[in-house]
Amino acid sequence: MKNKKKDIRALTKKQLQDFFVAERDKSFRGSQVYEWLWNKGAHSFEAMTNISKETREMLNENFVINHIRVDQMQRSSDGTIKNAVKLHDQLTVESVLIPTATRTTACVSSQVGCSLDCQFCATAKLKRMRNLNPDEIYDQVVAIDNESRLYFDRPLSNIVFMGMGEPLMNYNNVMKAVEKITSPEGLGMSPKRITISTSGVPKMIKKLADDEAKIKLAVSLHSAVDKIRTKIMPFNETFPLNDLREALEYWYSKTKSRITYEYIVWKDINDTRKDAEALVRFCKYVPCKVNLIEYNPIDDGNFQQASSQATDMYQQILERNNITVTVRRSRGKDIDAACGQLANKSA
Ligand code: SAH
Repeated sequence: MKNKKKDIRALTKKQLQDFFVAERDKSFRGSQVYEWLWNKGAHSFEAMTNISKETREMLNENFVINHIRVDQMQRSSDGTIKNAVKLHDQLTVESVLIPTATRTTACVSSQVGCSLDCQFCATAKLKRMRNLNPDEIYDQVVAIDNESRLYFDRPLSNIVFMGMGEPLMNYNNVMKAVEKITSPEGLGMSPKRITISTSGVPKMIKKLADDEAKIKLAVSLHSAVDKIRTKIMPFNETFPLNDLREALEYWYSKTKSRITYEYIVWKDINDTRKDAEALVRFCKYVPCKVNLIEYNPIDDGNFQQASSQATDMYQQILERNNITVTVRRSRGKDIDAACGQLANKSA
């Protein structure tokens, strides 16, 4: 009978209140339990000390609390922490805590594996097993918030959806998690501190704009030339740069929020002046900034970081065109926690 029990955290607050009313209790009881589940992060009904013993037993008979479990935690020499997270069905995802002098950023996963096929990304080598539920996304954030308080003496300050998976291909669950992260009954974080990173799914970028989520958007661009982008990110064939451009223009017209382009410069792939000039042209479409990120090798040898001259050339051309550019240093490389390295190796 055990697996017939429902996951109580799949219920909305209203559904939980209605459940208690149907049990001849008060709807207020539903609010109390909801607070235990989401605000206080209770892992068991026994922990809900202001709920009567009979009610707790009744909940135990009807529901389970499907929590994630941090199975293994690794700490990098630069302070970065990687969590291997076990889900209730024994699948694993990874999330990363990235500390700086003043901030703690959580990098969280949205899917187990990924259905996209970016040739340079370790996660792409794992096939997509399933989408994460809203609570599985939320729990990763809570786990990192706790670690931040424990090891850095401060709460989590930012969240990036740059872990495993394509967040816009698990749109509804990601947005439900964001709702919970930002609601006062959850973590009460400002949506401005949350960045969703996408490989570029035009239809969903437009939907995100329509839904007025107030989060920030990052796009993994990597090339502004269709032929090259299709080679390294084959789904670009289905969602070419023109469609992406149109969706981004729509995003900006609705949100007035500047977009970040993530961009890696690889040797012999996109390291010429022509490539940089194509990027400048693309950057003119909507207000944006460019984050030049370091390539983290994934062992297959097909991609190599371009020379520092090539990266400098990009930086100069962008700056000359008044485009803000930052160069991002990799964090947590020694524990395979850096961008594109999440592949459940520790599991
Ligand atoms: N699917 C989303 C979310 C994953 S974010 C997206 O593509 O945006 C992961 C980020 O790391 C993306 O910008 C991705 O392009 C980048 N990345 C992937 N593999 C990488 C690697 N080997 N080295 C550095 N960055 C990588």
